[in-house]
Amino acid sequence: RIVYVNGRWVPEEQAQVSVFDRGFLFADAIYEVTAVIDRKLIDYAGHLARLKRSLEALSIPLPFTDDELLGLHREIVARNELESGLIYLQISRGAADRDFLFAADMAPSIVMFTQKKNILENPKWKTGLTVKTMPEGRWMNRQIKTVQLLYSSMMKMEAERAGADDAFLVEDGYITEATSSNVHIVTKDRRLVTRHLSNALLHGITRASVLSLAKEVALQVEERAFTVLEACDAAEVFITSASAFVMPVVRVDDAVIADGRPGPISQKLLEIYIKDRMASAI
Ligand code: PMP
Repeated sequence: RIVYVNGRWVPEEQAQVSVFDRGFLFADAIYEVTAVIDRKLIDYAGHLARLKRSLEALSIPLPFTDDELLGLHREIVARNELESGLIYLQISRGAADRDFLFAADMAPSIVMFTQKKNILENPKWKTGLTVKTMPEGRWMNRQIKTVQLLYSSMMKMEAERAGADDAFLVEDGYITEATSSNVHIVTKDRRLVTRHLSNALLHGITRASVLSLAKEVALQVEERAFTVLEACDAAEVFITSASAFVMPVVRVDDAVIADGRPGPISQKLLEIYIKDRMASAI
């Protein structure tokens, strides 16, 4: 792979970041993951807007214009002949001698790489996922897409050890998110319930797109917190993310959701999400 590091395009073996980078020492960095289909960027405007919000929240400057940043995305697709897959972009505050205090004028470090994969064919869409509930243990600013992913990674490992695909994080009885996706339920009377936006969860770009499509297919949307019990009792449960789009969940702890197979509404939303987003890809 050809990766981008601080203004240079280099083979991945030659890519280097300082050991003093604050992304490495303090998780002082934010990131975005954008899907690519047919060499086009899916939901790019949303990812760019969230990138800016995350940087703003941490007072890290963005050293590019919108055109330059879009140009970098196009160039990494071209250099890697990326037909389908993901673009990872990380911006850290930069490198300085280790100190909890940092200067206001640090030069950010920017890294981009690609992951090739056929994201239009995910075998899990047919079977759905099984999940285990785990306590929420992340910090209280989950709307900022920082690289502090250790807790989520530990919980996903624990879910795997327990024989499940993923974990739902639970705070005060309510589901916040899965380890790297937003969680939604469809009630038996066909309402789409998804947690309202706050600092308790990442404001998923796929979540927003799916909500706008739900209205189009006459599904009533209710943005509010919901409990584990409500999820277990739902007609359908699914998660959304830029890489898995709309992914059905068929089991939560010991509760089998409906008949244990992906439901028709999740499948329909997946279908129209892909169609709609490919039509507006850039
Ligand atoms: N929540 C968390 C914690 C995530 O890590 C992600 C994906 N990075 C999401 C939600 C989904 O966000 P998006 O749809 O923008 O990929």
